[in-house]
Amino acid sequence: MSIKESLLTIKNELPDTVTLVAVSKTKPVSDLEEAYAAGQRIFGENKIQEMTQKWEVMPKDIQWHMIGHVQTNKVKHMAEYVSLVHGVDSLKLLKEINKQAKKHNRVINCLLQMHIAEESTKFGLDKEELDNLITSDVFKTLENVNVVGLMGMATFTDDKNQVKKEFATLKEIFSSLQSIKSTNLDVKILSMGMSGDYKLAMDQGSTMVRIGSSIFGSRNYS
Ligand SMILES: *Cc1c(COP(=O)(O)O)cnc(C)c1O
Repeated sequence: MSIKESLLTIKNELPDTVTLVAVSKTKPVSDLEEAYAAGQRIFGENKIQEMTQKWEVMPKDIQWHMIGHVQTNKVKHMAEYVSLVHGVDSLKLLKEINKQAKKHNRVINCLLQMHIAEESTKFGLDKEELDNLITSDVFKTLENVNVVGLMGMATFTDDKNQVKKEFATLKEIFSSLQSIKSTNLDVKILSMGMSGDYKLAMDQGSTMVRIGSSIFGSRNYS
């Protein structure tokens, strides 16, 4: 199937309440242009340098989502244009995003990444760290960031029950946050689900799926 066909097939499966992030990491600009021509306007990348190179050459009505782990010293390169940062997992990073956003007179939308998988290697906050972060005095002073939701990745496993359980846990935390609102906290996006598990994620209440290989084909890392 072509990129266009894959994209339209997946779009057809998503209800209006679920936003599709086309994960184009490692893929050439020509692939992104094909998806753009088919109507896609939200792209996800996991390296700031690669995302910035693509942002420079692609049409300006694209929303760029940083879905990977963010190094504090690289935030400045995307602060001018990034539309959503999915992988925020520390107050330190949030403070840096705030600082760089301020330089561009912007408010940058962020998702806090939660650790829901079994693997200890995956980044993210646990519930206690999340509570500490959003109730801290420093957080409330960050005027140039908006926390608009949560992101999480399930364990890489064939065990659907486990994946379902992890997504359900994240959805529960998400729901518990929705009643708490402050000037820079308004939780409405739940980013969960990738090519292998987005249907399970949608069943558990995902509002945003990040899909790469099912649209663009498998990635070759060299
Ligand atoms: C690469 C990546 C995806 C997309 O993965 P696919 O399995 O290709 O759909 C989604 N989320 C994150 C955080 C990723 O790094």
